[in-house]
Amino acid sequence: MRNVIVFVEHTGDHTRKVTYELACEARRLADVLGGKAHAIVLGSGAPALAERLKAYPLDVIDVAEDADVDRFLIDPTIDYLEALARELGPSAILIPNTMYGRDIAGRILARLEAGLASDVIDLKVEGENLLCVSPKLGGTTIATCTFKNTEYAVITVRPNAFAVEAAGAGAQIVQLGKPAGKQYAMLVESVVEESSGELGLEEASVVVSGGRGLGGAQPFETLLKPLADALGGAVGASRAAADAGWVPYSLQIGQTGKTVSPNLYLAVGISGAIQHKVGMRTSGTIVAINKDAGAPIADFSDLLVVGDLFQIVPELTKLIGTAS
Ligand SMILES: Cc1cc2nc3c(=O)[nH]c(=O)nc-3n(C[C@H](O)[C@H](O)[C@H](O)COP(=O)(O)OP(=O)(O)OC[C@H]3O[C@@H](n4cnc5c(N)ncnc54)[C@H](O)[C@@H]3O)c2cc1C
Repeated sequence: MRNVIVFVEHTGDHTRKVTYELACEARRLADVLGGKAHAIVLGSGAPALAERLKAYPLDVIDVAEDADVDRFLIDPTIDYLEALARELGPSAILIPNTMYGRDIAGRILARLEAGLASDVIDLKVEGENLLCVSPKLGGTTIATCTFKNTEYAVITVRPNAFAVEAAGAGAQIVQLGKPAGKQYAMLVESVVEESSGELGLEEASVVVSGGRGLGGAQPFETLLKPLADALGGAVGASRAAADAGWVPYSLQIGQTGKTVSPNLYLAVGISGAIQHKVGMRTSGTIVAINKDAGAPIADFSDLLVVGDLFQIVPELTKLIGTAS
């Protein structure tokens, strides 16, 4: 028997869509493993978020609205998560594969002496083994890994990998006690929130990305943003655009930026360098707009529209607006 614990990443009043994906996958896994599906929500806003999570098929939502979680860097969060994992015993811990989630994963696995499977896109159970499927080497290889230690398994899951089906199971809300005797050294001085668009980039179902072909910061605002809005998506960028200072680095997709896997990826004025490709190649449908029919992106896009983006993008935005 093994329980499943979902780590809920949130900003007080906002959680990521991946949380709900993990809640639904936790239900499926817990049923197969014969355990319970838990979610742990910590810090300010935790009780309200726990109420919202009741709409998803969890058994227990473990909550602590402890000011220390927000006042101090990551350690109080890890203490709560470790205490819950030790209390529940053998568990699979599902964490969003985000920048913060990866930080949590690295620390909790050290505390529990657990193994880690990262950037997982599928989970299977075979006997005692939990099989984790994840793309490696920039998506050119799909690896299936399992854990030698069957006590604790730490798994970071790629956003958009699992479907969401809201079907509340009447989850019980449990208040967690504060881990005793802990002292923390690192105070949080300030927190700067990204705009909601940037926050949602990794889990947006449509991403409209711009590259050097846009020629400056303004077309991101006047051309790409309206197109992304018309499609209900988020704006991304190549490193060339971020390096030029046209967009913040938080929008960069690729080897040294974010990995996205939306249903639709639109690459506008992006050549398709390998370092960009590894951050978006698992997208459902890839459409590129490029004036060069021989650009490398032609090799891995489903549709290449050859022409001037400054003419095509406004027309496309207008057409989508008319159709919707
Ligand atoms: C270690 C390392 C890590 C890196 N990490 C990343 C990363 O994470 N993400 C990333 O993106 N890159 C990364 N790079 C950089 C990468 O190699 C490329 O330089 C970069 O992706 C190029 O960006 P781009 O496609 O926007 O620009 P370019 O390669 O210059 O392409 C611009 C494209 O726009 C087209 N174009 C120009 N004008 C128009 C127009 N009017 N209409 C239509 N099309 C037009 C051109 O035909 C061209 O294909 C990394 C590089 C290194 C060495």
